[in-house]
Amino acid sequence: MLPPAVLVDTHCHLTDPRFAADLPAVLERAAAAGVGKCLTIATGLADAERAAALCAAHPEVAMSAGLDPYSCHQSADPEGDLARLDALAATGALRAIGEFGLEFHHEVLPRERQEALAEAQLRIAAAHRLPVVLHARSGRGVDAHAAMLAVLDRVPGTGGVIHSFDGDGDQAAAYVARGLHVAVNGMVTFPANARLRAALARVPPDRLLLETDAPYLSPVPLRGRRNEPGHLVHILAAVAAALGRPAAAIAGETTANARTLFLAP
Ligand SMILES: [Zn+2]
Repeated sequence: MLPPAVLVDTHCHLTDPRFAADLPAVLERAAAAGVGKCLTIATGLADAERAAALCAAHPEVAMSAGLDPYSCHQSADPEGDLARLDALAATGALRAIGEFGLEFHHEVLPRERQEALAEAQLRIAAAHRLPVVLHARSGRGVDAHAAMLAVLDRVPGTGGVIHSFDGDGDQAAAYVARGLHVAVNGMVTFPANARLRAALARVPPDRLLLETDAPYLSPVPLRGRRNEPGHLVHILAAVAAALGRPAAAIAGETTANARTLFLAP
């Protein structure tokens, strides 16, 4: 018998107001479920300040920060925000740059502007030798993964993860070919997502990551409730079933991948 693996939730939003009342209990439930480490993802500079305070209070939480498409859309000064993100990265507080990327489902900035802001953040990450956390959501007839792969080709060699992956097997393989990891969340448990479960076979064991994206995207059988890091075990079980491999093996591999990518000293 292997000892229980300590899982890493590589993408959650613990600064969300929905965790304000009971975060210590949320983290206790996560630890009891075997989720011993969380990467909380700040989606703008104000959120990054909240995340830094949260990490100071909870050593089992580390942080990433980026300018996501919504915060870029709302900002009066995106160029200044890029400079401030660069300065924050220089302090050593961040385990990654992100999430940032391309949002085509909700109407935010024009496509070209989103791509330019994504490219700028890829360059910030490269300058600080940090991995990236990428967001790509298709919509309005535009495939966000095809667009993101083209942006990645402008800044080759950046490591990191395509988070909340929902593309097909060829796209998963294309990210892997560019050196990226692929992270799946509760969407992999949704009955309709057979294509996503099939795509997992195209991700090598050393490139797969698990995430909850809490408080969003609660996995089956908890849909409709607030998601939290302890629910990662349901995502692990769905991935193991889709791959036809033991959950303990997937747990060990994904934890090692998360530690190497985000938590190495
Ligand atoms: Zn997120």
